[in-house]
Amino acid sequence: MSFLEKYQNEFAEYDKLDHDFIDDDKIWAQLNKWENPSRGDVRSVLKKAEQCVRLDPEETAILLQNRDEATIQEMYELAHQLKEEVYGDRIVFFAPLYISDECANNCKYCGFRSSNKAVHRKTLSMDEIEQEVRVMIGEGQKRTVLVYGESPKTEADFICETIKKVYSVKTQHGEIRRANINCAPLTVDELKKLKAVGIGTFQVFQETYHHPTYREMHPEGTIKGHYRWRLYCMDRAQQAGVDDNGIGVLFGLYDWRFEVMGLLYHTIHLEETFNGVGPHTISFPRINPATGTPFSEHPEYAVSDSDFKKLVAVLRLSVPYTGMICTAREPEEVRREVLPLGVSQIDAGTRIGVGAYTQSKRANELPDKEQFSIGDSRTLDDVVKEICDMHCIPSFCTACYRAGRTGEQFMKVAKSRFVHNFCVPNAIFTLKEYLLDYASGKTRLRGEETLKQHIEQFKGEPVYDTILKNLKRIESGERDLRL
Ligand code: SAM
Ligand code: SF4
Repeated sequence: MSFLEKYQNEFAEYDKLDHDFIDDDKIWAQLNKWENPSRGDVRSVLKKAEQCVRLDPEETAILLQNRDEATIQEMYELAHQLKEEVYGDRIVFFAPLYISDECANNCKYCGFRSSNKAVHRKTLSMDEIEQEVRVMIGEGQKRTVLVYGESPKTEADFICETIKKVYSVKTQHGEIRRANINCAPLTVDELKKLKAVGIGTFQVFQETYHHPTYREMHPEGTIKGHYRWRLYCMDRAQQAGVDDNGIGVLFGLYDWRFEVMGLLYHTIHLEETFNGVGPHTISFPRINPATGTPFSEHPEYAVSDSDFKKLVAVLRLSVPYTGMICTAREPEEVRREVLPLGVSQIDAGTRIGVGAYTQSKRANELPDKEQFSIGDSRTLDDVVKEICDMHCIPSFCTACYRAGRTGEQFMKVAKSRFVHNFCVPNAIFTLKEYLLDYASGKTRLRGEETLKQHIEQFKGEPVYDTILKNLKRIESGERDLRL
C-alpha cells in the first residue's frame, strides 16, 4: 500500500460531507458588510470584549476592518489588558526541535517540499536526537516542539519513539519536561498512540482556510492536498483524548483578514463540538524566505508589520482564553512590538535545521538545511533578559500539562481567572532554576530583580509562604517544584 493509499478510506468519509465549517462566501460577506465601521461600531465591540468573552464573527470582522487610528490604539490597549488579566505578565519559553525534513508533500511555500532539490534530506536517529536534546537542555530549555515532515519515515510509531527518547534524556540540571508536536494530521488510532507516550500540545496549522488558495498551495495527489483531512484533524485529536491542541495559519498565502476569520470559525467549531474546549494555542507565522523556494521570497499576500500587529490584537480580543505563539520567524523588533498585544508564548535560542543544535555547538555556524530563515537568532539568555527588561516574567513552567490541567480542565481554570495563582508562582520557580543553572551574570542580576518584584505581589496571600519556602529549596539544589 502506498503512503497516500493508507489514507484514502479516511478521505472518503470527509468527501461525503456536503460542506465543512468554513464558508468562504459567508466570511467575505461578513468582512464586506463591515468595510468601513464607525468608531461607535468598534467601541461597542470593545465594550463586549472587555467582558473577556469570545467574540462572534461579525464582531471580529468589525475589528479587522477598522482603519481608524484612534480606535486601533484602543484595541491595542484592551488586547494588552486582556492578556494581563488572563495570563498575567508571564511569557512562556520553548524551542523547536526539527526531527526530519523528509517530506512527500509539495507545499509551494516550504523548503522541505518534495520537489526542492536544494535541500539534502535527513531524519535524525535516536542517538542524534539525544545529542540535540542534550544541547538544548544545556542551554536551559525545558519545553520543546518536535517538528516533522510527512513521509513514511515519520509515521506515528516513529513519532512515539522520538517523544520517548526526548523525555528519557536527563542531565545534571535538567530535562525536557514537555514535548509538543508539530506534524502531519493523523488518524484517531495514531493520535491515541501519541497520547499514550505523553505528548504536550498537538499542533497542525491549516496554513490557509481559503479553499481555492489551499488547492493552489497544496497539489492534488499529495496527502496535504486534502483540505478537510487537515481541517478536521483537531476533531480526531479530541476523539482520541488529545485535548490540548494548537491551530494556526501561515500568513502570506491569502488575505490576512479572511484567515483570522478562519481561525475564529475553527475555534467556534471546536468549542461547539467539544463542550467548550477550543484550541489551546493559536500560531500565526508569516512566510519567511526558504532555500530553493521562490514563492516564499515575495508572497502575493505578504502581511505588513502594521497589519501583523493588528491581527495579533484582534486575535487576542476575539479569543481571550487561547494561548498565542509568536515564533522566532519574526525579527526581534517585531516580536517586541507584538508581545504586549497578547502573545503568551515565544521560542528563543531557536535553531531550525535538522541536527542544528549539535551542528551549531560543534562548528559555531548555522546549518545548511533550514526550512526557512529565522528573524530572531538571539540566544535564550539574551531573550530571557529582554523579557525581564520589559517587566514581564519568563516562564519554563510545564505544570498544567503534567497535573492533567488540559482541555476542559484547563479551560475551567483559565476561565475562572485563577491562572495567575498557579502560573505566576510556577513561573517564579522555573525562572529561579534557570537563573541558578544557566544564566549569564547580567541576566541573573536582572532576573533576580524580576523575581523580587513578582514575589512582592503575593505578600499577604496564603501562597506567599509556599513561594518563599520553595525558593529556598531550589537554592539548596532541589528542582522541578511546582504548584
Ligand atoms: N509537515 C508538517 C505540516 O506541514 O503540518 C509539520 C511541519 S511544517 C515544517 C510546520 C509549519 O511550518 C507549517 O505548518 C507551516 O505553517 C510552516 N512553514 C512552512 N514553510 C514556511 C515558510 N517558508 N516560512 C514560515 N513558515 C513556514
Ligand atoms: Fe512538508 Fe509540512 Fe513543508 Fe508541507 S509544510 S512541504 S507538509 S514539511
